[in-house]
Amino acid sequence: MNEESSNEPQPQARHSTLVTRRFTIITHSPEETVSLGRELAKEVQPPCLVLLEGELGSGKTTLVKGIVASLASISEDEVTSPSFTLVHEFGAEGTVYHADLYRVEGAHDLATLGLDDVLGRDTTVLVEWGQKFGEYLQRPCVRIFCEHLGGDDRRITVERST
Ligand code: ADP
Ligand code: MG
Repeated sequence: MNEESSNEPQPQARHSTLVTRRFTIITHSPEETVSLGRELAKEVQPPCLVLLEGELGSGKTTLVKGIVASLASISEDEVTSPSFTLVHEFGAEGTVYHADLYRVEGAHDLATLGLDDVLGRDTTVLVEWGQKFGEYLQRPCVRIFCEHLGGDDRRITVERST
């Protein structure tokens, strides 16, 4: 019963998040990067710390716009860089936080941001320049590396640790 013909090729196992631990995509416009962020949002299960690395202008905040807009059900225009305020909170349910540690100088500064408290909650926390504080920001579930390839091209590498 239900025997497959021996000549039929076996269906390939579908990609799953467990199989695809690391992938790289090149985007060619900010809009494409926002769309990628919206796709990535579907794969983020809180509690989740997402660390974003890459030089200024490499697209970290642009990618975050897509992720946050999707998770918090808001417009991507409402997601602005927290460069000066350092931590932004979005959404009522399924709250998501976005932090930018570029201007944070040391552990003492970091402690004043209240990130510890936020990281203890059942939320998604997106942190730009998180690698500056690797020893304090334990166990990211996703790391994202953004690279400026010139013009409007950005290479985005996503690495999951779960
Ligand atoms: P970061 O947060 O890494 O400093 P931003 O996302 O704030 O970077 O800025 C990226 C800049 O590059 C924006 O001005 C954006 O419009 C522009 N840009 C051009 N092409 C892309 C692309 N493919 N992906 C993301 N941003 C792009
Ligand atoms: Mg930024």
